[in-house]
Amino acid sequence: MRAMNLLLLDPQEWPAGTADRALLRLTGRRADHIRTVLKAAPGDSVRIGVLDGLTGLARVEDLSAQEVVLDAVLDTPPPPPLPLTLLLALPRPKVLRRVLQAATSLGIKQIHLINSFRVEKSYWQTPFLQPDSIHQQLRLGLEQARDTILPQVHIHTRFKPFVEDELPALAMGKRCLVAHPLPESQSCPATLNEQTVLAVGPEGGFIPYEVEKLQQTGFTAVTLGPRILKVETAIPALVARLFFP
Ligand code: SAH
Repeated sequence: MRAMNLLLLDPQEWPAGTADRALLRLTGRRADHIRTVLKAAPGDSVRIGVLDGLTGLARVEDLSAQEVVLDAVLDTPPPPPLPLTLLLALPRPKVLRRVLQAATSLGIKQIHLINSFRVEKSYWQTPFLQPDSIHQQLRLGLEQARDTILPQVHIHTRFKPFVEDELPALAMGKRCLVAHPLPESQSCPATLNEQTVLAVGPEGGFIPYEVEKLQQTGFTAVTLGPRILKVETAIPALVARLFFP
C-alpha cells in the first residue's frame, strides 16, 4: 500500500455550502485508507486537500467500521506551481506512468506528450494514455507533493504539425529550451522565475531534424553534461537546475 502525504478529496466530497471548515463523513475506500494505511486513531490529524482548491488538516473525530468522521479545516494554499511547460517525447508505457507522477510532484502544470522519430508507434496505443489512467497518475503525484492543482496533459501524435501550428503560440514570450546532451549544446541555465518551455527527448534522443525544427521556433539546445540520463532521471535534474533555489 502506498503512503499518502495528502488525502485528496474531490470538490463534491466537501459539503456544499460550507466554506473552510466542515465535518466530513467518509466511507468506503477513503475510510479504509485512513484506517488501514494511515492507521489513524481518534484525535490524530491527517492532511487533506480539495482538488483544485485549498489544503489543511483534518482531525479524526470518530472511526467505526462504516465511516470515519473528520473535523476538517481548509486554510492553506497548495505549493506554488513551476512556471514550466514540459514537452515530452512519449516514453514507453511504464516510464510514462512514473514520469507523469514525478512531473506532477515536481509542480509541472502543463505537459505536452509529443511524437518524435524515435518514439515507437506502439507506445501511442497504450491504455496508460486513457484519460482515467492519466488522471490517476496525476492524483498520485499531487498527493505525494501535497498539491491540489491538477496538471493539464495534452497529446500530440504528430511532431511537425504540432511544432509548426501549435508550438509558436505556446512558446510566445517564454524561454524555450530543448534538452539535448551534445557537447555543442549550451550548459543548462539556472533560471530564476521565468516562464519556460522545456523539451525532453525520447530514449534515443531527438533526431537532428527535430532539434532544428525546435531551434527554428526559438529553442536553445542545452545540456547537463556528458552523462546520458534516462528520461525519468533527466526531468528532475533539469527541473532542479532550472527552478530550485
Ligand atoms: N541517446 C541520446 C540521449 C537520450 S536520453 C543521446 O545520446 O543523445 C533521453 C532524453 O533525456 C534526451 O533527449 C534529453 O532530452 C534528456 N537528457 C538525458 N541526458 C541529458 C543530459 N545530460 N543533459 C540534457 N538532457 C539530457
